[in-house]
Amino acid sequence: HAKANGRNDFAGFEDEMDALLRNRHRLETDLREALGANDQIEVYYQPIYCARTETLNGFEALLRWHHPARGPISPEFFIPIAEEAGIIGDLGQFVLRQACEAAMRWPDQTMAVNVSILELQDMDYVQKLAAVLAATGLAPERLELEVTETAMLTAGTCEENLKAIRMMGIRVALDDFGTGFSSLGRLTRIDVDRIKIDKTFVHGFDQSSNDKAMVRAIVELAHATRLAITAEGVENRAQMEFLREIGCDLLQGFYYAKPAPAAEIDALLAK
Ligand code: C2E
Ligand code: MG
Ligand code: MG
Ligand code: MG
Repeated sequence: HAKANGRNDFAGFEDEMDALLRNRHRLETDLREALGANDQIEVYYQPIYCARTETLNGFEALLRWHHPARGPISPEFFIPIAEEAGIIGDLGQFVLRQACEAAMRWPDQTMAVNVSILELQDMDYVQKLAAVLAATGLAPERLELEVTETAMLTAGTCEENLKAIRMMGIRVALDDFGTGFSSLGRLTRIDVDRIKIDKTFVHGFDQSSNDKAMVRAIVELAHATRLAITAEGVENRAQMEFLREIGCDLLQGFYYAKPAPAAEIDALLAK
């Protein structure tokens, strides 16, 4: 009996795996098509504010995929698919180009663009980056590339690219900081300009004094090592006030603004 059941369970499991793989394959194909079509994939921009003055400092470019049948699909879900399908390079170039063009219309604002570690490991990445800057005319000082802490911990081979990027005058930020378990010692040796505190710590402020202590310590360490610091996921006034009080430089979150299409930012800045 037990044996028969086990077999059935296993057959069920195989069917489920089949379905999952077919689904993923389907999405991969859809994503390739979407990239070619260019109307399903759009770049949104989320405003980032100076904590001290509460004035606009710049934007983060965030990809959106409006799937014709499934509706919006989160980048948390489709970026890994793009990475595995080998199309993250094309997707990354698309975002970069759009973001630099938008930044040219939005003077004095910085533009942060998320970069996959796979792009950063590409030998030609620096050249492609320079080509986009040349084509759009954006000053490198206005561009910041965000790489996740976890990716940086597992990669390691992109040090030369990172160095070249920073030599060009482009800044680099460690994204989702605090989730990748870097040792503090390691942080002082990674060549970046900014760290972005992951939103889960900011969201923990209400329940946990540990999260507050942790963020306070990260801010202190960042400043001691001359790193700028941004907090993401700021959703309410209490979080904003605490972050400002401990000296966090930039703030980003729904408390200020949600990511919006370029046309909305155009309208906002025209006012
Ligand atoms: P991320 O780079 O850490 O971006 C911040 C995420 O937090 C965004 O999610 C943003 O919409 C969300 N967020 C901002 N403020 C708040 C808030 O107050 N509360 C909450 N709950 N969330 C907030 P999104 O747009 O879904 O992007 C998810 C992740 O996907 C990004 O995290 C980034 O890792 C990745 N991603 C997005 N666009 C790109 C891209 O163009 N290239 C690459 N490689 N990755 C991207
Ligand atoms: Mg980011
Ligand atoms: Mg982040
Ligand atoms: Mg994130």
